[in-house]
Amino acid sequence: MTKSPLKLRPGIAEAPIYVPGAHGDKNAAIPPAVLSANENPLGPSPKAIAAYNDANHLHRYPDGGATELRQAIADHFGLNMERIVCGAGSDELITLLIRCYVGPGDEVLQTQHGFLMYGITAKTVGATPVLAPETPDLHADIDSLLAHVTDKTRICFVANPNNPTGTYIPGSELRRLREGLRDDILLVIDAAYSEYVDAPDYADGSDLVDDSENVVMLRTFSKLFGLAALRLGWCYAPEAVVDALNRVRSPFNVNAAAQAAGIAALGDQAHIKKSLTENAEQMKRLCGALSQLGLGFAPSVCNFVLIRFKDANTAKRALAHLADQGVIIRSVAGYGLANSLRATVGTATENDRLIAGLTDFMTKA
Ligand SMILES: *Cc1c(COP(=O)(O)O)cnc(C)c1O
Repeated sequence: MTKSPLKLRPGIAEAPIYVPGAHGDKNAAIPPAVLSANENPLGPSPKAIAAYNDANHLHRYPDGGATELRQAIADHFGLNMERIVCGAGSDELITLLIRCYVGPGDEVLQTQHGFLMYGITAKTVGATPVLAPETPDLHADIDSLLAHVTDKTRICFVANPNNPTGTYIPGSELRRLREGLRDDILLVIDAAYSEYVDAPDYADGSDLVDDSENVVMLRTFSKLFGLAALRLGWCYAPEAVVDALNRVRSPFNVNAAAQAAGIAALGDQAHIKKSLTENAEQMKRLCGALSQLGLGFAPSVCNFVLIRFKDANTAKRALAHLADQGVIIRSVAGYGLANSLRATVGTATENDRLIAGLTDFMTKA
């Protein structure tokens, strides 16, 4: 930390800075295949781009309550709009929830290889992240989470499905977790990839929100909807949590272009369907190629796959080898998975390059 006469709040100096997935050199002769941040390789709906371009009353403040957007989300997903709060990405909502319910000395519980932002944000308010080991096949382990609850636990975060593992647990397991937690512990179910999941026993967690006073579901427009640049997320929450979030958020936290593009994206069923179909096809193809190469991977229900190498050094060399060929995937050493790399499922052409790069690496390795 840089020296300063100012008194920083507890925890901030110790909080690591989040390192986003690399995006390579955009100006390279052959543009890189960017498979590092789980973005929709098809981009957003053309309707969302048009709505973004039309959002040009730049001197006017946006609707601070994001009323039309919340109504569109409620209609699309069959939810009550009064229980929806929008944010500048779901990352902002993670921060706001922690600000509402967590302070110095408190604990924030999550799974061992869960999304990094929960722990980083917990640290910024002087709280301690607690990691509950997962099952050997990288699934959230409810008994392990419950065993790590203490008097100081305030929030339990579960990404379902999880990033970077890509695995999910059934809705019944989430319900068992809620039943095992004290009432004064908030359960946050981060369903950033839920649109991709078609497993019959999966639940996004909205049913649990409806049935209790201490569950929040987080969602995002950054993944399937392809709007990562605009920063748009939302949560579905009990009345008291909605009230608290509306007090702490800044009054115009979601910009006008994001609101307009979000509404249009929800309205483009054809683009949603195409994105899901191509992802499913390409995921199948990619996993087939990984198996042929003798590479292990975690069973993914998302738009990315966690690839396992022999050891950490091999993973590191594979990452560099791919980068040399303009294929950018993600190191997950920061998640305690140094022997693995996470690759977003790209377009057919991008996946050709990924498979070619991996094949080349495995033949030489
Ligand atoms: C990408 C991601 C998010 C962040 O979404 P934003 O809305 O872009 O802030 C949240 N949670 C998980 C698990 C993610 O993978």
